[in-house]
Amino acid sequence: MRYPLSCGHKIMKHNISITTVTESKVKGIDFNNIPLGTTFTDHMFICDYNNGVWENPRIEPMGMIPTHPAAMALHYGQAIFEGMKATVDADGNPMLFRADKNAARLNTSADRMGMPHFPTDLFVEGLTKLVDLERNWIPPTDGSALYLRPFMYADEAFIGMRAATHYKFIIMASPAGPFFSKRIRLWAEKHYIRAVNGGTGEAKAAGNYAAAIRPTELAKAKGFDQVLWLDAIEHKYIQEVGTMNIFFKIDGKFITPNRDGSILDGITRMSVIDILRDKGYQVTERTITIDEIQEAAKNKTLEEAFGTGTAVGIAYIQDIGVGDEVIHVSNESPVGLDVNNTLNAIKTGKVEDKFGWMQKVENQLA
Ligand SMILES: *Cc1c(COP(=O)(O)O)cnc(C)c1O
Repeated sequence: MRYPLSCGHKIMKHNISITTVTESKVKGIDFNNIPLGTTFTDHMFICDYNNGVWENPRIEPMGMIPTHPAAMALHYGQAIFEGMKATVDADGNPMLFRADKNAARLNTSADRMGMPHFPTDLFVEGLTKLVDLERNWIPPTDGSALYLRPFMYADEAFIGMRAATHYKFIIMASPAGPFFSKRIRLWAEKHYIRAVNGGTGEAKAAGNYAAAIRPTELAKAKGFDQVLWLDAIEHKYIQEVGTMNIFFKIDGKFITPNRDGSILDGITRMSVIDILRDKGYQVTERTITIDEIQEAAKNKTLEEAFGTGTAVGIAYIQDIGVGDEVIHVSNESPVGLDVNNTLNAIKTGKVEDKFGWMQKVENQLA
């Protein structure tokens, strides 16, 4: 079956072929002790792009993929990804959180990196079928989830600089235990930069992470957990944190950096904005300087700060290192904690999904 590049909004049923393993590995997994990022479920979803069409969507046993040494992603970096989570409700039904947003963002990233769109309906269908098949892999304990990693990369064997004509789109799944987020310390980086307007900061591109590894190691060596990225020109406007967007509470009101083309359009970020407003807080998206945060800390109006992202949910910020100084943010984050609890309650069906974010995964394969 062949799928044309362009894709309308109507949901079509795709012919996804499924090859299952003879015996699931899930029986050997201790959900209370899951090694982070190294445990994978039994199956993966794969689709190939050849000269303008996505073809052969399939679910097959998780395993190695033969790769030519000249695969273009390895040399020129056309590689993008998504990160999302499947959770279970009180009755054990798998649910997805705002999957359509991830499907759309993958294509925004694809545009910037000169890669083809992946049909959003096939994204959601492949994801749903995979989660349905792997439903026993979703850890039931509070705060746990099945982490889903959709990604696309250029697998054409070619030495030369142009957009590839062959790609793979894959979704793999990895169970993740409850995340006990300890309070974190950030390093405001004034030398290295992550992104500049016009660059690739808004794309969830593998290369953005490659460039962040060394600065993050240096920040860790100084006793911090993650880098707080500042703008590329004046090194004072706050952008985001490692794998998270950032929020500050000053004098009762929330502020978060506006999307200026250099920050990632986080789905947790957009959801937290809605939750905060729903709880009656004012949230403003605008430019924020590190000096303003330093001032607010001195005036004792800086009340909380937290990072937001799929992997951790909400990460509470304790301190921010700026040059020789350390800005002490707070020892507690009551509003951040409340927002995190609300987000988790929505994801596990414990409160009404009044925003319409959850999608139940029907049992189709049984
Ligand atoms: C994925 C990511 C985020 C968080 O996005 P979510 O959709 O909330 O998971 C923030 N910043 C960067 C750089 C990211 O890659």
